[in-house]
Parts: sequence; structure tokens; C-alpha cells
Amino acid sequence: MASILIAEDEARIAAFVEKGLAAAGFSTRVAATGRDALDLALTDEFDLLVLDIGLPGMDGFEVLSQLRGSGSAMPVIILTARGGGADTVAGLEGGADDYMAKPFRFDELLARIRLRMQSSAAGQGTAELSHRGLDLDVRTRRARIDGREVDLSGREFALAEELIRHAGQVLSREQLLSRVWGYDFDPGSNVVDVYVRYLRNKLGADRIETVRGMGYRLV
Ligand code: CA
Repeated sequence: MASILIAEDEARIAAFVEKGLAAAGFSTRVAATGRDALDLALTDEFDLLVLDIGLPGMDGFEVLSQLRGSGSAMPVIILTARGGGADTVAGLEGGADDYMAKPFRFDELLARIRLRMQSSAAGQGTAELSHRGLDLDVRTRRARIDGREVDLSGREFALAEELIRHAGQVLSREQLLSRVWGYDFDPGSNVVDVYVRYLRNKLGADRIETVRGMGYRLV
């Protein structure tokens, strides 16, 4: 049975999520402070973390930062009370796999949890992906260029992973949006272009080719 850690200090929300996940066949545990959430997340007993940002003591961003800093690749879905873009960007840059703004619908959270569990299970078969000096370890989410470690955020890593799995093929912005961001982002959003730019800065400008009018390709 897959096990989900819920870091949430509001008892009403924690109970709501816990009840829904139990009904969907997951085992759950609630942590009401950031410190408890981090300690439990580091035990390796859980398959996924649902992480509230506004936690007492240590906030969700700090929990995420320490978790990733320890090398954990555990999937993390952030819950944020503020619908603001700044929080979201900070969360994704900090290595979250997905986020939801409160209030949220349980079925939507469940769908995202299932999606993240599938992609982490799929990744376990092939932990190392390599292409022309670029190496990605999808289990620890570490990246190397010609043997040198490169620090990628969670979303940058996911984008690099999608590109390397389809090296040499052109992937459209829409494909990258749906596969890497995992849900319907505004198709007019330039988030893909922004992240391609981040990746070029970190991996080398000529590794990712722009195919005009079509999309991007790892060369
Ligand atoms: Ca809270």
C-alpha cells in the first residue's frame, strides 16, 4: 500500500485529505509542524509528501529545501493558501513536483497524487539517463554535465528528463507543458520558454535547439 505523508497544521484540512486518501486505498500520516514533516519525510517510509506552506516553526519552503538538500527525490505536492504566482514559482524552483492552491477539490488532489506516483514508479526502472555527456539520475534527481554536478530545480530536472527521454526528437511547447507541468497550464503561457532558458544557462546554450514554429529538441 502506498503511503502518503500529509504536512498540514489545520486539523480540518488534514482530516479531509486523510479521509479521502484512506478511501482511495492509501495509508496516511499527518504531521502538524514543519519539523515533524521533515523528520518523517526523511525516514523513507513515505512515497509522497503533500506539503502545506504555512506550517508552524519551519515553513513548507524550508522543509522542501532541506528535504531536497538531503538528496531525497520523494515526490512533493505543495498546498498553498495564497494563490499568488510568487509562491508557486518559489515552490517549483525549490523542487516541488506540483502545487495546488487552497481551496482545492479532493478529486483533483487525488489525480495529481496518482500522476506523481506513476511517474516516480516509471522512473525506477531506468535510474540513469545519458546523452552526450549529460547524465540524469532520475532516482536521486541529480544531473551531471561531463561528470560535473549541476544543480537543477525540480521542474528544470523534469524538463531535462523529458528532453533526454526523447533526445533528437522535436517536442512542442504543448507536449512539454502537458508532460512536465502535468496539467493544463494556460497554453499562452511562456513558462516552457522560460525554463528552457534556465536549462540552457545550466547545461550549455547549444544543447537545446529551438526548432522554429515547432518546439525544442535536445541535440
Ligand atoms: Ca497551514
